[in-house]
Amino acid sequence: MADNAHLLIVEDDEFVQSLLAAYLKKSGHRVTTAGSAAEMFVALDHENISLILLDLGLPDEDGIALVRQLRTRLQTPIIVLTARQGRDDKISALEVGADDFLTKPVDPEELSLRDDNMLRRLSNSGGMQRVSDDLEKLLFAGWSLDIAADILRSPDGEEVKLTRAEFDLLTVLARAQNRVLSRAYLLDAVSRDSNEAGDRVIDVLISRIRKKIETNSRKPQIIHTVAGRGYRLTS
Ligand code: CA
Repeated sequence: MADNAHLLIVEDDEFVQSLLAAYLKKSGHRVTTAGSAAEMFVALDHENISLILLDLGLPDEDGIALVRQLRTRLQTPIIVLTARQGRDDKISALEVGADDFLTKPVDPEELSLRDDNMLRRLSNSGGMQRVSDDLEKLLFAGWSLDIAADILRSPDGEEVKLTRAEFDLLTVLARAQNRVLSRAYLLDAVSRDSNEAGDRVIDVLISRIRKKIETNSRKPQIIHTVAGRGYRLTS
């Protein structure tokens, strides 16, 4: 299904880059590599990339600024690569629109799980080849979330752009409408890296979604925080 996925690895450490490339090629993906932000932009201009693996410590540009810049131009899923101690980096990367992160040294099994998962979600949602004709639409508070077309529409019918992670999180909340879901449950639903950044990841994503769908994100009417328990979406 995701065999024709084209992955872009942006990493200046040649050893890590070749290790990742070899592993992902072995998994059947098409792989392009870049050693700097400049090379990445060249690749993006010439190739049809389905997923970007981005090291945050590149020689020519600040990683977080780069994620922010990429997000203004494209919706391609971005998995950032960070050092183990880079907890703040992970949060910052999510805040500016990254979809997931991997901690270095990267465990090949985790990498495979993460990118397969991301690509599966992508193909299910029509971002690439659609594999299912899932016509599911979730409605809440006048909003409509079209799972098959990967589109969120406001009550006015306007399309609102979400990152992969935001879309997945909102889908889980909308499916569970009116039930409280814990941060741990939500984290599990959108990502597998539950070891450190943990609950903060969900809080950051919720705050990003609120800014897009709430009239006043400081006084949310759709996604409510339930103290000590988690979040609840009301219809
Ligand atoms: Ca680096």
